[in-house]
Amino acid sequence: MHPFERFLQNFIPLLEKKFTDVNKASWILETTGSQDAADLRSHLDAELKILLSDVKIYRDLMAWDQDPSLKDPLLKRQLNVLLRSFKQNQASPSLLEEISKKEATLAQSYAAFRADFNGKKVSENEIRDVLKKEKDASLRKMAWESSKQIGEILAPQILALVKCRNQLAISLGYSDFFQMQLDLQEVDRNWLLQLFDAFSKDSEKAFDSVLREIEEALSSRYGVSKKDLGPWSYSEPFGQEDPLDNEDLDHLVQGVDIVKASYLFYQQMGMDVQSILDHSDMLEREGKCQHAFCIHVDKRGDIRTLNNVKSSVKWLETVLHELGHAVYELYFDDSLPWLLREPPHMITTEAMALLAGRQAYRKNSLEKLVGNSKQKWIDIAEKSLRRRQLIFSRWVFVMTSFESELYSNPDQDLNALWWRLVEKYQKIKAPSNRQGKWDWATKYHIGLAPVYYFSYLLGEMFASMLQEAVSGKGKHFEFANPKTGQFLKRKLFSLGNSMSWSSLIEHAVGSPLNYHAWLSEFS
Ligand SMILES: [Zn+2]
Repeated sequence: MHPFERFLQNFIPLLEKKFTDVNKASWILETTGSQDAADLRSHLDAELKILLSDVKIYRDLMAWDQDPSLKDPLLKRQLNVLLRSFKQNQASPSLLEEISKKEATLAQSYAAFRADFNGKKVSENEIRDVLKKEKDASLRKMAWESSKQIGEILAPQILALVKCRNQLAISLGYSDFFQMQLDLQEVDRNWLLQLFDAFSKDSEKAFDSVLREIEEALSSRYGVSKKDLGPWSYSEPFGQEDPLDNEDLDHLVQGVDIVKASYLFYQQMGMDVQSILDHSDMLEREGKCQHAFCIHVDKRGDIRTLNNVKSSVKWLETVLHELGHAVYELYFDDSLPWLLREPPHMITTEAMALLAGRQAYRKNSLEKLVGNSKQKWIDIAEKSLRRRQLIFSRWVFVMTSFESELYSNPDQDLNALWWRLVEKYQKIKAPSNRQGKWDWATKYHIGLAPVYYFSYLLGEMFASMLQEAVSGKGKHFEFANPKTGQFLKRKLFSLGNSMSWSSLIEHAVGSPLNYHAWLSEFS
């Protein structure tokens, strides 16, 4: 037996125990908001990091990586996964601690802030509510400006954090933190930036036509000329979502049991999600996390989703999305080693979740999900899906370019950079009074979920490739059928993390990740 195999026999049970405990604490925290659970999770999380930072083990792993006698592909893949997990924990412990302290303080500042709006202190949700519903353009503008007040407080904290993260990356041999994060996720920086550049050019015409439609609708909704539409005309602070038709579409789910409809939908693909729903937490409650996620607690079948289901298309999409992550985890091949019972990257599991979520806007799927008596809304939903895709892709281009530039030169005029990118990709004109402000710092992910956004768009691209692989180019394909289910299980889910995400994509659909299927679907 190779010494690496013997090492795995001892090490994996320790890792599995710690990993499962962290997840259990997370679940209690997210479903109750309990302070004890928060303390427990951060304690267990620190222990997990210690387990993955042992210098002697890291040296052994690196030596085994050079050993030509280690040939078995599953062993080599496990070694690769462990090397990347250990590498990021090799920096100086005091620097790692400083980073997590700064992140905790930033998260607190973010949560505690209340903006001034119209003489009142308001929460972020209250501002978002105004942007969703208010028809008066000057009130909208005021609300949008309020949403940017937090930037002044967050920006210096984020900049200090960016510099620590860069210091960490440089100490591990990378040029900056952006580079490091991508490398540890098996993503090449130049490939990514060039891909998005070409993608933005090839989808620009389609985006322009959608933008014209949106600007016309918004200018008549608010009674202002097109040139007076600003970033405050969108239904949220960043112009990342389709501002049209949102409430109208909720007619689709009137009288529909969203959870039951989703269950039946997966049933038609030969995927039984009952055990997942039995472990899930589906309805709103005091103290509970207000978002949605899927968690595979032990990587041995204890899969749960958290939702806050309301009667809206958004929640139909979300339940389908989270169950998409869940079935991916449910159908890992039983013979996979524990360490490889996970997707190789967020891209592939997001692709499944996004593909499932899209069905909440697709004619053939909607007829199954909500019945066929709502034809008028079903047609509107298909159009809105195309707008949503085009708008969101532009937002990801902004975020990705901005983060790349932020980490390569944090001392530049970041607000000017931010608006240059917003104007270039989203074509939303910068208001005249934004010089010297900190608008870039108001997006949560910049400070607290760094170098993450790009995966969503890569996931959308792969989702379209999967859609094309199961349906051919036929637009009116019935997605929910046993053949789709078999394809996904056999070609995608069952393989777990037995290969890199890019090899897995080629294995599943026969070509490397690209945006052609996405373009033919949405442009
Ligand atoms: Zn997701």
